[in-house]
Amino acid sequence: MEMEDRPITITGAVCPVPVQHRDKVILGHGSGGKLMHDLIEKTFLPQLDNPILRASNDASVFDLSNASRIAMSTDSHVVSPLFFPGGDIGRLAVCGTVNDIAMMGAKPVYLTAGFIIEEGLDLPVLDMILTSMKVAADEADVRIIAGDTKVVQKGKADGLYINTSGIGIVYDGVRVGGEFAQPGDIVILSGTIGDHGIAVLQARGDLGFEAEIESDVAPLNHVIDKIVQYASWRNSATGLHVFRDPTRGGLATSLNEIARQSRTCISIDENLLVTNPTVSAACEILGLDPVYIANEGKFIAIVDPSLADGILELLQDDPLGRNARVIGEVKKEPAGRVLMKTSIGSTRVLDIPSGELLPRIC
Ligand code: MG
Repeated sequence: MEMEDRPITITGAVCPVPVQHRDKVILGHGSGGKLMHDLIEKTFLPQLDNPILRASNDASVFDLSNASRIAMSTDSHVVSPLFFPGGDIGRLAVCGTVNDIAMMGAKPVYLTAGFIIEEGLDLPVLDMILTSMKVAADEADVRIIAGDTKVVQKGKADGLYINTSGIGIVYDGVRVGGEFAQPGDIVILSGTIGDHGIAVLQARGDLGFEAEIESDVAPLNHVIDKIVQYASWRNSATGLHVFRDPTRGGLATSLNEIARQSRTCISIDENLLVTNPTVSAACEILGLDPVYIANEGKFIAIVDPSLADGILELLQDDPLGRNARVIGEVKKEPAGRVLMKTSIGSTRVLDIPSGELLPRIC
């Protein structure tokens, strides 16, 4: 089915404009002239408006004098298709960068957004994606304070690519990173695995069957904030060692990165992983392993054992952590390896896949 023939939805909202009346992005919208100013004034600003963005200078200027350490990250989004169950490229672009900043124990504050638009993209589609970015930015309580749009000829991009960058303020007393995992630490996973990747495959029609699975794409900064507040209240912020969101490459890849960075062994138990039955079924049919499938609303927390129970309880009380579990622990040897006790009781080395399993998933 052609994209234009089917209704386009963002979490339930159907694009209200009939195909024949949809205005399209044309090359002139990227020209720097009147058309581009119209596009920015009529399409971008109404959605993303805030005083810093509206100043419309060459760069945005802001004050972070209350911050001693800053986290910064950037991420480009090329997901295909642009809309998938549970989200779209706009929500993904905001959450991706918000989450990467949050994973450094930082409170995300400002984002920038760069749009590479293919000539011919329906303007109402762009508008829906911007609405979705605004909703996600509001959820995360961040503002988009600088942006850029470029239009390329038909066939030179696939509808729309979005790059977002962001900065955040690192919480006082918190120093987290893959290198800080240490033997004895507890490994917590905030929920089910594989939902995002399988939702995108479903949207592509690659599953071969109808499934009810939604992407988990969500901003994780508020739940990270709760964990930091809890650890600080316990006078134990130094007991927080690693946060990481297992996006591309899934849980297995993220754990391998951490094991290598910290020169430890991470040992997990497959029986403790929670997988949506639809994801399990899809993986079985396609010959995929959910530990390698992308997530966009989950994170791994590696913490001192004294904090584990409190964090688990706090997570399970939060809608984004309902299915949180302790999935394993950090050991000394074999350093740089991830071991998984399988459902049949054997132990296997969980490796990093050699290539991209599922291209253009984020
Ligand atoms: Mg990440």
